[in-house]
Amino acid sequence: MVRELIPVLAFFSFWLGACIASFLNVVIWRVPRGESIVSPPSHCPKCNAPIKWWQNIPIISWLALRGRCAACREPISPRYVCVEALGGALFLAAFLRLWMPQVPIWISVVHLLVMWIWISLMIVGSFIDFDLQLLPDFTTVGGMILGVAEAAVFSGFNFAYGSGLGASVWAKLAPIIHSLVGLAFGFGLMWLVRWLGSKAFKREAMGMGDVLLMGAVGALFGPEAVLAVIMLSSVFGSIVGLGMILASKAKFGRFVAIPYGPYICLGCLAWMFFGAELVTWYLGLFK
Ligand SMILES: [Zn+2]
Repeated sequence: MVRELIPVLAFFSFWLGACIASFLNVVIWRVPRGESIVSPPSHCPKCNAPIKWWQNIPIISWLALRGRCAACREPISPRYVCVEALGGALFLAAFLRLWMPQVPIWISVVHLLVMWIWISLMIVGSFIDFDLQLLPDFTTVGGMILGVAEAAVFSGFNFAYGSGLGASVWAKLAPIIHSLVGLAFGFGLMWLVRWLGSKAFKREAMGMGDVLLMGAVGALFGPEAVLAVIMLSSVFGSIVGLGMILASKAKFGRFVAIPYGPYICLGCLAWMFFGAELVTWYLGLFK
């Protein structure tokens, strides 16, 4: 890639992420309520005033209007602007960290698009899980389909053009095998945890959405990512859980339902952006 283009593409990545996240805000609010995501057009929930295009520019409009509706001056939740900034930051991070200069450019482009879609699905899933303790199937099963489809494209490319990649059929099929093994491993392991948990606690210990979400992590990043994300997500979940106990929002030893999905997503992001560094650091502990 031409070096001079990187700042331009970086800015484009951030802005695209913020614009898509602005739409994801609508999805997060409307989909669980069974509302259409296209009509009616955006309006103020308080005074119903339609939101004009210049009031709907990600991040900028919220700052310019100082977080208030232009018509009735009612405060607009800062969560909207936070989700937009998060989308921008994650799209930018994916461009800066996941672009692979050593492979043909179209592979990097396909991978970046897949990662951007996956980041969008994780944002929607996490915030709906925070609000309602449920993960919609389109975010989890969608991730599985995305992972297997990307691997199938890469395997297909190996068959069409990859004569230099080793003559063995298995070497050419490696991406799709890696993805399917990851899917089965992630889904199977979490299904087992869920089953054992429900036996031990005599109640549902984990939602089926979390099982499907880990299947998606496996399909996209392989079985090694499943192990790392389980470890990372339990660390993140424990930190937040302890924080909630210290803030005395929850009592120790009492069963509190905290959504697990957002922590799986946090673990997955840590794996996507710092996976190699984390593995080196962790293995170094045992030297
Ligand atoms: Zn209003």
